[in-house]
Amino acid sequence: MLRIRAEKLDQQAHTDPLTLLPNRRALDRQLPALMRRAHDRAQPLCAAMVDLDHFKRVNDAHGHAVGDRVLAAMGTILTDAIRDSDLAVRLGGEEFLLVFGDATPADAAKACERLLVAVSGFRWDDVAPGLTCTVSIGLAVRNTGERTPHWLARADTALYAAKRAGRNRVESAPH
Ligand code: GH3
Ligand code: MG
Ligand code: MG
Repeated sequence: MLRIRAEKLDQQAHTDPLTLLPNRRALDRQLPALMRRAHDRAQPLCAAMVDLDHFKRVNDAHGHAVGDRVLAAMGTILTDAIRDSDLAVRLGGEEFLLVFGDATPADAAKACERLLVAVSGFRWDDVAPGLTCTVSIGLAVRNTGERTPHWLARADTALYAAKRAGRNRVESAPH
């Protein structure tokens, strides 16, 4: 009984209640294992920073409750988009991080392009009449020995390049 209760509390502490995705705490806990596995297999590790485009406008035009339903739908879209070896987390707000655990940079780029299509092609009209949503994505391949904050900051910089370039697109970070 106590063990089950402890597991439930642990689960809750590592899950975002709105999207049901793992949260930042879960990322901190799971990332070292992904990094170790990639290192042991001499495989690259790719991070994709995903941010909803003009999400403030969604809230302003349709209300905060609709905004919340968009985020919840994003949880489903992202979960469907990734494989068992990947990780999708809600970093906070309307920002998500994907870590591709068993993919070449080209595979990760393709997965991100598919995600753009999955988001823009989602039936947002069913969430609220007239609603459309897109995301921008910044992709960064981890350099050998690169520290996590530096790696994710490069993904963030690529994300802002995608925003500046017009949104609804993927930009890859230079090494
Ligand atoms: P950009 O395309 O440049 O990313 O523009 P943006 O409007 O998406 O970005 P900005 O950072 O200006 O606004 C983010 C908005 O996300 C503002 C905030 O109210 C909203 N937001 C953050 N968390 C939540 C949430 O949990 N629920 C809802 N409904 N809105 C949220
Ligand atoms: Mg945004
Ligand atoms: Mg944002």
